[in-house]
Order: sequence, then C-alpha cells, then structure tokens
Amino acid sequence: MERTFVMIKPDGVQRNLVGNIIACFEKKGLKIVGLKMMRIPRDLAEKHYGEHKDKPFFGPLVDYITSGPVVAMVLEGKDAVSTVREMMGATNPLKAAPGTIRATYGMDIGRNVVHGSDSPASAGREINLFFSPEELVDYQRDVDRWIYE
Ligand code: GDP
Ligand code: MG
Repeated sequence: MERTFVMIKPDGVQRNLVGNIIACFEKKGLKIVGLKMMRIPRDLAEKHYGEHKDKPFFGPLVDYITSGPVVAMVLEGKDAVSTVREMMGATNPLKAAPGTIRATYGMDIGRNVVHGSDSPASAGREINLFFSPEELVDYQRDVDRWIYE
C-alpha cells in the first residue's frame, strides 16, 4: 500500500470544508494514518513549495498557505498518490473535471482548497517534512476486506 501527503489549505479550513473533504477520502476507502491541524511556519511553506521558488506566484502562494491553519494528513491505500490527485482534479478549479474536489469547492487557482503529493517521491518528501514517524499510526482496519478484493 502507498502513502500520500494531503493538506486542506487555509481556505478549506476557513470555509468549513474540513469534514466534507476528509469524508470524500474516507468514503473512497483511503485510510487515514496521520492527521493534524497546524499553522505552517514560513520556512516550512518555502521548503514544501521549493519547486516553485522561481515562479511569479511563489510569494503569494507562501502567503496563502501560511495565512491560517491547515489540516495535514497522510492517507494510505492502493495507488494513493494518483488516486488522491484524480480525486482533487486539476490545479485550476475551473479546469478540474466535474465531481472532483477542486471543481466542487473552488473557483480560483490561488484558492484551490486542497493539496496532494504529485508522485511517490514527493509524497515521501512531504510526509517527512510535515510528520514525525511517531505521528503516523499503524493499525488494521477490519473493513479492508470489504474495500479490497
Ligand atoms: P498542484 O500540484 O496541483 O497543487 O499544482 P502546482 O504544484 O503546480 O502548484 C502548487 C500550488 O500553487 C497550486 O495548488 C496553487 O495553489 C498554486 N498555483 C499554481 N499555479 C498558480 C498560478 O498560476 N497562480 C497562482 N496564484 N497560484 C498558482
Ligand atoms: Mg504540485
């Protein structure tokens, strides 16, 4: 099973979408193995979005992601990285496929409600940035035999 890093961004928290968004992932069958609310320090935000540091939107992006609390989580499941990316939809909510989280809840690329790692390598890096090993919980779910063949 694969793990991915997911974050409900400050706009998702402010708009009272935390429960709805977590429910999407839970109902899908993804397993929550780490979950916390936090305020992202600026240096962590800059590391997390390091690949974008030369883009014109980098400053506003770091301002946005540090502007209020976020809900960070680690989800586990079959092909969790690509599954979450599919569920989130395209970066621009107006271009995201109908039914995806960003299409359902967002209007603007700079307020797109949710983050999910874009590759297994990014997932490993982001999980390590945001969670210590003790914060990730190993447990069995009895329902897994009804989710996976
Ligand atoms: P993601 O992997 O789908 O989140 O997209 P990217 O890695 O390309 O960009 C990271 C985040 O930066 C996005 O989720 C947006 O919040 C933001 N972002 C990306 N492109 C733009 C842009 O052109 N303008 C603005 N304002 N924000 C952007
Ligand atoms: Mg990205």
